[in-house]
Amino acid sequence: MADIEAYLDDFGKVVVSVSRRYYSGKTGNFYLSDSNGEVYTCLVRGHEDRQDSVMYELSIPADLSFGISYELHEKYGKIVPLQIRYIVHTKYFDELFTYTGNDLGATYHPGYTDFVLWAPTAVSVVLCVSLRKKKTYQEMRRTDCGVYRARIAGDLKYATYTYLINRNGVIVKSADPYALSSTANGKESAVIDLDEIRKIRDLPASKVLSDPVDAVIYEANVRDLTSNPLTGTMYNGKYLSLTESDTAYADLPTGLDYLSSLGITHLQLMPVGDYATVDELNPERGYNWGYDPVSWLVPEGSYSTDPDDPYSRMRELRKMVSTLHGRGIRVVFDVVFNHVYDTEGNPLELTVPYYYYRYSDNWYRSNGSYCGNDIESRKPMTKKLFRKVISTWMELYGADGFRFDLMGILDVDTVNELYALAKSIKPDALMYGEGWNMPTALPHEDKAMIENMGKMPGIGHFNDVFRDVLKGQTSDDGKYFTGYLTGNTAMAFDACSALAGHCRHNPYFWRFDDPEKSINAIETHDNLTVWDKMHFCCKEEPRDIRQLRQKMLIACTMFAQGIPFLHAGVEFCASKEEESNSYCAGDAINRMDWERLKLNQKVYEYTKKCIALRRSEPLFRLRSAQDIEMKTRFSVNDGVIIYDLETMDHACKVIINATYEQKYYEYGDLFKIQFDEEGNAHSEFIYDVTVKPHTVVVLKKEKWDEKNHS
Ligand code: CA
Repeated sequence: MADIEAYLDDFGKVVVSVSRRYYSGKTGNFYLSDSNGEVYTCLVRGHEDRQDSVMYELSIPADLSFGISYELHEKYGKIVPLQIRYIVHTKYFDELFTYTGNDLGATYHPGYTDFVLWAPTAVSVVLCVSLRKKKTYQEMRRTDCGVYRARIAGDLKYATYTYLINRNGVIVKSADPYALSSTANGKESAVIDLDEIRKIRDLPASKVLSDPVDAVIYEANVRDLTSNPLTGTMYNGKYLSLTESDTAYADLPTGLDYLSSLGITHLQLMPVGDYATVDELNPERGYNWGYDPVSWLVPEGSYSTDPDDPYSRMRELRKMVSTLHGRGIRVVFDVVFNHVYDTEGNPLELTVPYYYYRYSDNWYRSNGSYCGNDIESRKPMTKKLFRKVISTWMELYGADGFRFDLMGILDVDTVNELYALAKSIKPDALMYGEGWNMPTALPHEDKAMIENMGKMPGIGHFNDVFRDVLKGQTSDDGKYFTGYLTGNTAMAFDACSALAGHCRHNPYFWRFDDPEKSINAIETHDNLTVWDKMHFCCKEEPRDIRQLRQKMLIACTMFAQGIPFLHAGVEFCASKEEESNSYCAGDAINRMDWERLKLNQKVYEYTKKCIALRRSEPLFRLRSAQDIEMKTRFSVNDGVIIYDLETMDHACKVIINATYEQKYYEYGDLFKIQFDEEGNAHSEFIYDVTVKPHTVVVLKKEKWDEKNHS
């Protein structure tokens, strides 16, 4: 800390911190001077003795102007810049400076390019444009709402740029927070001629999803899907690898064909927004999932074939999504709005210090994300940037939905606004996230979390109770604990609540007022894989029983009410060698293991049948909590769950036998087996059924059958 620091924290209020090293912190006679030569005398309103410093609170007679610099003087002759600090969190600041135009960033025209930057606390901004190795500097003009502008003549299609921003007494170099692309590792922002991107084949319009519960979501990482050399793609680990057809290993499809083979409706990509910790020029030297955001608008460069060409990542991402659409697979983008990787060096903090982060009442930087900062989602200009991100991912890259990382850091209103925006672009857009209660500096009632699900119609939440009840606890400490399907049949009643998507009331455990709010996942990218967890919680059991348990977990995910979600590899019992947090564990641990697919081919075939049955059977996709209340019935018999579903024309009976005994049931009605322990349908009518240990059987009764056979 410098000897003296001075901050503008509110209108008419300056806070000065004087180090004890400097005259024991005892000083006075404060006045401010501005760059026009005006002088303002400050009154000391009070002071507070701290261990290493004395804090003075000063009042200033007039409101200061923005866009010019001020210096604080004190009686021993020190002169320091006045830094603009917490005043940016006042309502009046928002009223003065919230910008409603839609031209932030660089807008390309063949004859000129406009550069527009929101930097209200800056006193000057210089635009630095690089074109064909030549740099030019242009002072920008300050206009309304603290927006700086410059128009550069000429064709800047291949130009890159940065801003030199003079604020708080220092000049910093920053990328553009509204840049659509950049050179490798986000070094320079890029001017983009959008016509170049739109040249890529139009994104085919996919059929509208009639309800979110019709979705079958599959989560994967771009790199992991094809980084295994056995994939047989040309562009392993790149966006373009998912545009390649006819790849296989050991007679089983890989890559794009593999995704197509599953029958999923949505592929959820782990972050494809620019992240920090993989060197884009040497991606093989590093590995990261990408939850360390640099820019929410720029596609990650390490997945592109030419990270230094700003157009390459954009074209290739668009082409990838377009190809997936062509296969009938919609794409959900995982966005990490809750924090940024580099707290001090991110363009947001560089352009408008203190504005984008959340602070507690005592001005501690909120850190509910445990990553050093929480984004203040409630600020109008933060929301504006979020809206730009949502609309760009959807309109330029074809996104069909969003998953919010640590959604509980964001606020209810913002999430609702973003959902309304997404739906205005695509009526069936999905939006869901991790609705955990994070220790962020937001009032409880404002957090976009499960407990506030009633305030967020249409927003999904990962259902951690579903996961823990069926699979057993997920945390490292809980890995030895079993759930209903991993050996604890005493949890059968809890499992019934979970299968109802926690949408049924008494005596069921109720969490959600609509099934579209329950994202049912037994495995996600976090924590041990199901298979690895069973190394601990089912370690005495032979492999074939664990395989049966894996199948039951997948079947119950598919037949439960709510939105089913599978993490890539769960369908072939993927292992990460017991690594519970593999975000930087490298390709070998994280990538798709096609040999393992071959080894557990049966589970993969079974998963496809589960997905197909879900997609063909509307009773597993009930649209409302009321429907679930009326059309489902659960009973528990000796550790076995009987899950009955009934509508006007047919009924289904799902028998989940998680016990070690074979069970036999006789019924007064005629059924067909619609789904046996291998997922196959039978054509003969039966009155009784035998259910093997650790299997799920689905029986179906057409109501007209009664008439025909009686
Ligand atoms: Ca990057």
